[in-house]
Amino acid sequence: MSVFAAVTLAPRDPILGLNEQFNADTRADKVNLGVGVYTDAQGKLPLLASVQAAEARLAASPAPRGYLPIDGFAAYVAAAQKQVFGTQSAALAARRVASLQALGGTGALKVGADFLHRLNPKATVWISDPSWENHRALFSNAGFEVQTYAYYDAQGQGIAFNALLADLGRAKAGDVVVLHACCHNPTGYDLTQEQWQAVIALLQARDLVPFMDMAYQGFGQGLDADAYAVRALDAAGMSFVVASSFSKSFSLYGERVGSLHVVSQDAEEASRVLSQIKVTARTTYSNPPTHGAKVVATVLGDDALRAQWEQELAGMRDRIAQMRAGLREALEAAGVRQNLDFITRQQGMFSYSGLSAAQMQRLRTEFGVYGVDSGRLCVAALNSGNLPRVAAAVAAVLQ
Ligand code: PMP
Repeated sequence: MSVFAAVTLAPRDPILGLNEQFNADTRADKVNLGVGVYTDAQGKLPLLASVQAAEARLAASPAPRGYLPIDGFAAYVAAAQKQVFGTQSAALAARRVASLQALGGTGALKVGADFLHRLNPKATVWISDPSWENHRALFSNAGFEVQTYAYYDAQGQGIAFNALLADLGRAKAGDVVVLHACCHNPTGYDLTQEQWQAVIALLQARDLVPFMDMAYQGFGQGLDADAYAVRALDAAGMSFVVASSFSKSFSLYGERVGSLHVVSQDAEEASRVLSQIKVTARTTYSNPPTHGAKVVATVLGDDALRAQWEQELAGMRDRIAQMRAGLREALEAAGVRQNLDFITRQQGMFSYSGLSAAQMQRLRTEFGVYGVDSGRLCVAALNSGNLPRVAAAVAAVLQ
C-alpha cells in the first residue's frame, strides 16, 4: 500500500488550467486573454530595453553568486521602498518600515500572512468580492478565517461603495483588510481618492490592519498616482503592510521580484518586526535569489536607465489604454448597444466584461478566445492583430 494512496487530486488552478487548454487548442487564430500577462503590439512578452541594458552591465562584470542576506539585496530593498512609499514618506524618514526582498508579490503576501497569523491567529482576513483568486487560498493556508467585503457592483458597473463600508464596519479590531492599491484584479475598478480617504478613516477608527497588495504600480495612472492609497496610509500614520511586485512593471515575471513592507510605529518596533519576518523567510526558503534583484536595483539606481524604464512602463500603460478604447469602439461599431463606458473607466490589465460563464465558454469553444469564466478579459494581451477578432467574438456572444 503506497503511503500516498490517500492523496486526492487537487483541482487545477483555474487560470493556469486555462493556459493548458489554450496551448492544446490547434486553431491558428486563438487568443489568450486568460492569464494576467502584458504582451506588446506584436503579441510578444516584452524584454524591456532597460532590463537588457542592466543585464549587459551585470554580465560585463560577472559576480559570484553567494547567498544573499535573509532579507535580500540591500540596494534592491532600498530602491523598492522608495518606489512604494515615494520621496515624501514620513515612515521611511523615521526608519519605521521593516522591508524584505520577497519571491514576487505572492511571496510577499505569504511572508506577510504568516507573520500576521503568528501575531494574531484569531484575526479574520477580509478580501474583496471578487478578488485575485489566490488571495483566499493564500490567507486560508496561512491559518486565517477569510471573509469577503462587497466590492463589485454589476448593475452599476462600478464599486458597491456603501456596501463595502458597511461590510468593513462589521470587522473586529485587529482584523486584516486586503486592499488592491491600484488596477483591481479582476474588476479593473479602483477607488477614487475621496473613497480611499473614507476607507482609511474607517480602518483607523476600527483598528483594522490594512494589507495593501500592489502588483500593478505604474499600470493605472502612473507610478506615483497608483501608490496614492499606500502613501495616504503612510500620511495617516497607520501601521500597515504592503506587498509589492515588479513582475509586471519590469516584465520580469519569472525572476520573482517582489518586496514586503511592514510600516510600524517607530524604528525600534520596526527592528523587532524585521527580525520576525526574517524568521519566516529563513524557515520558508532561507534567502531570495540574486539575479532579478540585481537587475531591478541596477535600473532603479541609475538615472538614465530609470528614465528609460519609466518611458517603457508608460508605453505599456498607454498601449493598454489604446486597446481599451479600441475594443470599445470595435464593439460599438459591431452594433453592441449596451453602455460600454466601463471598458475605458476600468484600469490595469483586466476588463471585467460582465459576460456570464456560459458566454465565456462560447467565446472559447466557438471563437478560440480564452478568458476567465468570471468574465475577466486580459486587455493587456490585445493588439491590433487580434482585437478585431476578439471584438467580433464578444459582439456575437452578446447578441
Ligand atoms: N496580487 C495580485 C492582485 C495579482 O494580480 C498578482 C499577479 N497576478 C499578484 C499579487 C502576484 O504577483 P507576482 O507574480 O509578483 O507573485
